[in-house]
Amino acid sequence: MKDILNFINGEYTKGTSGRTFDNISPIDGRKIATVHEALKPEVDAAVKAAKAALDGPWGKMSVNERVEMLNAIADGINARFDEFLEAEILDTGKPKSLASHIDIPRGAANFKVFADTIKNAATETFMLDTPDGAGALNYGVRRPKGVIAVISPWNLPLLLMTWKVGPALACGNTVVVKPSEETPLTTTLLGEVMNEVGVPKGVFNVIHGFGPDSAGAYLTQHPEVDAITFTGETRTGEHIMQAASVGLRDISLECGGKNAAIVFADADMDKAIEGVMRSAFANCGQVCLGTERVYVERPIFEEFVQRLKEGAESLKLGAPHEAGTNLGPLISQEHKEKVLSYYKLAVEEGATVVTGGGVPDLSSELSGGAWVQPTIWTGLTEDARVVKEEIFGPCCHIQPFDSEEEVIKLTNDNVYGLATSIWTENLTRAHRVAPKIEVGIAWVNSWFLRDLRTPFGGAKQSGIGREGGEYSLEFYSELSNVCIKL
Ligand code: NAD
Repeated sequence: MKDILNFINGEYTKGTSGRTFDNISPIDGRKIATVHEALKPEVDAAVKAAKAALDGPWGKMSVNERVEMLNAIADGINARFDEFLEAEILDTGKPKSLASHIDIPRGAANFKVFADTIKNAATETFMLDTPDGAGALNYGVRRPKGVIAVISPWNLPLLLMTWKVGPALACGNTVVVKPSEETPLTTTLLGEVMNEVGVPKGVFNVIHGFGPDSAGAYLTQHPEVDAITFTGETRTGEHIMQAASVGLRDISLECGGKNAAIVFADADMDKAIEGVMRSAFANCGQVCLGTERVYVERPIFEEFVQRLKEGAESLKLGAPHEAGTNLGPLISQEHKEKVLSYYKLAVEEGATVVTGGGVPDLSSELSGGAWVQPTIWTGLTEDARVVKEEIFGPCCHIQPFDSEEEVIKLTNDNVYGLATSIWTENLTRAHRVAPKIEVGIAWVNSWFLRDLRTPFGGAKQSGIGREGGEYSLEFYSELSNVCIKL
């Protein structure tokens, strides 16, 4: 049985806490590994190592040297692509076809993207008039913020973690990463790559554990952590914000969503079905940007429901490596119970179950896994909890609408504001509607299409701050103004 260790100051260590927890496969419920939990002493050691590394060779590197190092990290991940792929599949159970196209390549690319960003980043200058006529020159300089705590979720473990670590290192910070307790493998493996490519000790540290009374809380409360970047649930974000308020540490929060898709009658039906299929069911619905509310203009409502039903029923649930598998399990039994409780609630709230609604009948080898059926409902009222709350499973509710004004109102009537996708062949309508949706990203005729130079984040309870391109540089560096009297 494999032991998953903390990675502190360039070395793998069990630490002194002696506490361990099991890493369980969502595919069949068997134990994959024993994870060594970090408590206060381990978190202290990791933060201390990260602090010390700021004054070591890392802190003295030129931007170009850091850029080379980031590219080497990306190449190092790609050189061990299959190991990362197998580790991610083992932890999450996601289909190989998905992890090999999204998780691992984009996980590696995050280092390259931010290497390019920092290399080409300029700062502002202003010439100021002064009474003596000589003037003054103002220019911005970027310094690293210091030690960044990175707290990441389980749905896209490598991708979402490197989305933070990439820009943090690009800006010259050091990091202490706490991956989700559900998915410790790829983050741990990344420590080996850091050592292989010569990242100085202490620059990248990994601690394992949970939130409260464990690694997560100890890390976010640590006074020597200078900023916290978090992806996960909104309620957890609130706890992290409280922790960060002590000492006025900066935060970036990427949180939950209850995203809508809007399908107008003039949409290209094939494109809309394909897009909503992906946005509702990809990664077993465990994508923060995924669609759980679908609003369809009345003339095409029946046809849309029928075709999405056919699509959902054609999905192949199965083991990650099985040919043709395009739907994996949920992350854990605990999450399965949560999703199934919403399946039950939907019926109690009066939904018509168009398809799914339960547990699939799979082979006996998979019976211990966290499997649920892809599910579609209609007929709920807008105040139903199933329509309001984030479920984070392979499911959506479809509701007809009659006018543009109505659908904008319905879409915005939610505490979250992460993403939306609008399906229409009328470009004028698309331009009119998209800016009115209260979200961080509004797609038109697409979903999950990301240009990493653009701002990414959530409105309302979906988060605080923007990352991506120069917006990441803003968070991961401290901008100072130098004012020179000429
Ligand atoms: P979660 O909030 O339960 O956990 C996220 C991380 O926070 C984990 O590492 C967890 O151990 C840690 N944590 C929990 N309590 C903590 C505490 N008190 N202090 C410090 N750390 C703590 O989220 P999850 O279930 O892993 O992920 C699913 C959620 O993430 C969904 O709500 C989803 O929408 C959201 N998400 C958002 C984005 C985005 O970009 N906006 C991306 C992916 C996932």
